[in-house]
Amino acid sequence: MSQETAPRENLAHPREIGERSSRPRRMPIPPGKLLIDGRWVDAADGETMNVVDPTTEESITHVQRASAADAERAIDAARTAFEEGPWGRMGHEERARILFRMADLLDERADDFALREAMDMGMPYTDFRTIIMPHCSGLFRFFAGQAMAHMDGSYRTTYEPTIRVLTRREPLGVIGAITPWNFPLALTCSKVAPALAAGNVVVHKPASDTPLTALALAQVALDAGVPDGAYNLITGPGGAVGDALVKSRKVEKIAFTGSTSVGQNLIRNGAATIKHQTMELGGKSPNIVFADADMDAALQAAFWGIFWNKGEVCVAGSRILVEQPIYDEFVERFAAMARDAVLGDPLDPATQLGPIATRPEYDKILGYVEAGKESPARLVAGGNAPKIDGKGLFIEATVFADATNDLRISREEIFGPVVPVIPFDGEDEAVRLANDTDYGLASGIQTSDLGRAMRLADRIKAGTVWLNTWHKYHPNAPFGGYKASGYGREQGAEALESYTQYKTVWVNLG
Ligand code: NAP
Repeated sequence: MSQETAPRENLAHPREIGERSSRPRRMPIPPGKLLIDGRWVDAADGETMNVVDPTTEESITHVQRASAADAERAIDAARTAFEEGPWGRMGHEERARILFRMADLLDERADDFALREAMDMGMPYTDFRTIIMPHCSGLFRFFAGQAMAHMDGSYRTTYEPTIRVLTRREPLGVIGAITPWNFPLALTCSKVAPALAAGNVVVHKPASDTPLTALALAQVALDAGVPDGAYNLITGPGGAVGDALVKSRKVEKIAFTGSTSVGQNLIRNGAATIKHQTMELGGKSPNIVFADADMDAALQAAFWGIFWNKGEVCVAGSRILVEQPIYDEFVERFAAMARDAVLGDPLDPATQLGPIATRPEYDKILGYVEAGKESPARLVAGGNAPKIDGKGLFIEATVFADATNDLRISREEIFGPVVPVIPFDGEDEAVRLANDTDYGLASGIQTSDLGRAMRLADRIKAGTVWLNTWHKYHPNAPFGGYKASGYGREQGAEALESYTQYKTVWVNLG
């Protein structure tokens, strides 16, 4: 690790929290089944899907390839559990006890979860273990507490003295959780925890490429005592099982994280049944570095902002805007950091960038690298796809300097370790460039001027603004997008709200 990329206190990257010294080993992962109505079962037609490790490019295990018919079975089990089972009728304290138990089991099994995510998605084991895992268990504890505190109602007066109104908050019913291949566990917990806490039941469909932590989470739900049918897991292609969830009349809400194009499809397909929907979609987030910023801190925020989890992060700082007076120095130092970034096996504690999660994503990112090379922008770091020990879907940390905001690499979501650096002059131009995008997921402002930071936080059109940092998350901090990055919020009281509906009861006291 170079001096520039060494962790620094109070800056953006998870490594500041702690590192593991020992290196875990790959372990066999048993084949996965579907969890329907509290039982692990095979897909009805016996089809399976291979799960591949992007570091070794070898098969890890296989899981069931469910069909629409399997999805219907899971939906029916969930519907029955919601209508007739104990989950919805339990007191909030009793449900919370089970959710706290889920949180404890997640912590106890953290090593297994970290290994699965490293082998499945190529996420550095240490990052997952120290950052993602506590966040996942924290989500269950937070929403269990939220539900106990806030799933209450009110008693109101009306025009007429003898007529009163009671309100109560009720769960929606069956929640279809559809999740992507990046951060598979965290993005599942951010849906499942508030859904269950509010008394809903769940059918989860993970991404076909990364189902391994979903299987382990479903086992946690079983072991913690979530009743049969209240938590179901179906692995299988989005076009079949995801589509069945979206179109089913028995599913009240789709909680989706994924690409903007699939999200648009889901919104259309959910219209016929008036689905509640939460859409967490793509991003092209601007990281604005002013000349008055602490240069070392800004470089750290920029480096980890784009290269954490090899850029496969919806909120990656994937456009770096740098003010003219420091532009040359920033580019020189940032490019040096990128050239020094350590690629390798995600199980190695020294690794900063693991492999790209899937072959199609790898090919897509390399296409963007070529588009960058053919553009007027200047390649100052990376641009290659090295093999490590002769294998692996690795792509170097890649930086294109002197970019403009109209290039393909500046406008489209690359979802990999590739970033354009764009010069700007003054606050107004920074805001104009930052907001000149279809997306509005995250943004960041690096400056030592607090007034400027707050002024710009007001003007940037994005769901998250990080001031002098990047990649900070908490169960109590609402998370979601503006514009084509989606709608609805995960985390915070706002998320619990989105899994409930209000009932108004009129009472005649006369
Ligand atoms: P994706 O292709 O949109 O897939 C997401 C999920 O949708 C997968 O489970 C997929 O199943 C399923 N799916 C595909 N077609 C479907 C259909 N017709 N009906 C129902 N479900 C369907 O996204 P991805 O490539 O996995 O994830 C990367 C994208 O997610 C990026 O754009 C990234 O920005 C976004 N993302 C956003 C956030 C956020 O919070 N805003 C967070 C992380 C990622 P299969 O895997 O079986 O195809």
